Amino acid sequence: MKRWIVLFDIDGTLIDCGGAGRRAINRAFDRAYGRADACDNIRFGGMTDHAIVREAFSYIGVEYNSKSAAELLALYLEELQQDLAQSESFRVLPGAPEAVHKARAAGHAVGLGTGNVRAGAEAKLARGALWPLFDFGGFGCDAEERPALLAKGRERGLAKLPAGTLERTLVIGDTPKDVRAAKAIGAATLAVASGSFSREQLAAEEPEWLVDSLLDRQVSELFEG
Ligand SMILES: [Mg+2]
Repeated sequence: MKRWIVLFDIDGTLIDCGGAGRRAINRAFDRAYGRADACDNIRFGGMTDHAIVREAFSYIGVEYNSKSAAELLALYLEELQQDLAQSESFRVLPGAPEAVHKARAAGHAVGLGTGNVRAGAEAKLARGALWPLFDFGGFGCDAEERPALLAKGRERGLAKLPAGTLERTLVIGDTPKDVRAAKAIGAATLAVASGSFSREQLAAEEPEWLVDSLLDRQVSELFEG
């Protein structure tokens, strides 16, 4: 039987954190540099955590290096945990758990392909009881560029499959950056217009599949063969 490696994006695809990520990074920049405005001009969708921090550092005139980035992200993770524990606007997106379960039931290697650092991914997904559904992933701490972290996720997924059974890698995400990164590594994409990009904006990137939400029948059909 032919198997796939399926890599799910998190924000806008599986869950909507209700702004927890942005609030947490704003508070981290406020605590570290007194600059809660550091990310005001950054559109987060599809960006990795390190790319966001690098751009914000540049905006406030602070040098980006591994130490300054690690310190800032440690503050961010503290703030994120707290925000997620209190937030009432967090929600799991319609059809997300079902889609993951169907992909797993089909025997595919099901992981994450996300710009979140691993600890941030875990905090967000644990809030929605989704973290235990994923065995591996490519994360924002693996690489600053999205294609590289997807390649890392694929490498980890390959180790989960019986040798010689891989048919395709499928990336599921909600932004043009997800589609472009998938194409860059030769993967197929299921684009979901459940985040901050419209169906038209996603269609322009020519994903193999395009749906309004993971509830769409095409998603079940994809995993039911
Ligand atoms: Mg996303």
